Amino acid sequence: MIIFKKAKDLQNHLQICRQKNQGIGFVPTMGALHDGHLSLLTYSIAENQVTVCSIFVNPAQFNDVNDFKKYPSTLEQDIFKLETNGCHILFLPNVEEVYPEGFDKKRHYDLGYLDTILEGKFRPGHFQGVCMAVEQLLNIVQPGRLYLGQKDYQQCMIITKLIHIMGWQEEIKIRICPILRETDGLAMSSRNMRLDEEQRVQAPAIYNTLLFVKGKFGKESIGKLKKDAAERLHEKGFKTDYVEIANAATLLPVTDNEPGTDILCLAAAYIDGVRLIDNIMVN
Ligand code: AMP
Repeated sequence: MIIFKKAKDLQNHLQICRQKNQGIGFVPTMGALHDGHLSLLTYSIAENQVTVCSIFVNPAQFNDVNDFKKYPSTLEQDIFKLETNGCHILFLPNVEEVYPEGFDKKRHYDLGYLDTILEGKFRPGHFQGVCMAVEQLLNIVQPGRLYLGQKDYQQCMIITKLIHIMGWQEEIKIRICPILRETDGLAMSSRNMRLDEEQRVQAPAIYNTLLFVKGKFGKESIGKLKKDAAERLHEKGFKTDYVEIANAATLLPVTDNEPGTDILCLAAAYIDGVRLIDNIMVN
């Protein structure tokens, strides 16, 4: 695996790959890698001659300074995992490399209602920050395929929208990959590293609550299901940002079991200071 810290060096290398007609797959991450990240890598390696993974903890997307400061970093292990899992290139830029003009000079992306619901509502500015970094990274890497995790469902929709805004939909194909879970159902997440033993035991309650909603979907009213789900999380010691039952294509809330529509339950909740998100298809 080759590690590049400078955008220019990476671009020069990728230029040669393109001249050899090698397809480029890209897996952007914020590091503290787990098997969920590595599954994206595996999809990319299977479909492309060259796979680039990036590790960049994007300051522009943290609406909470403490969350940014406490974001886990395990670079040595990450490099080992990438290397042993067949990654070709690691891009490891610093903030100046991604934002040569600084990240305060904010560009505004017209993301519509997606920017203000669910994650967007509870993390104001988050998706604008995500778009800033993803635009820069895509400009540098110019992949043919981009690998994203369904765990961040709304982010997948936002990045799809960004690619349309930039007019890159012909060049960059998005691959959305399934959520990898621990054996007790907890969605793998870098933030899980911040959970102590007791919190780690409580954490699968999010997934169990989603399963509860899925099990009762169509048998109870949507309103009651959301209320019961939020109560279950509260009883388990979570502070809930949202439990929403939404149209999977639009992410807008549904009010009844709409036959023929794919419906998703999404949740975001804090266990002490650690914010976890998850989602599941319910029909
Ligand atoms: P992050 O490092 O959290 O920004 O995640 C980098 C990429 O990995 C994003 O596309 C995530 O959606 C994806 N990802 C994170 N957790 C998982 C998981 N448990 N299963 C599959 N993909 C994941």
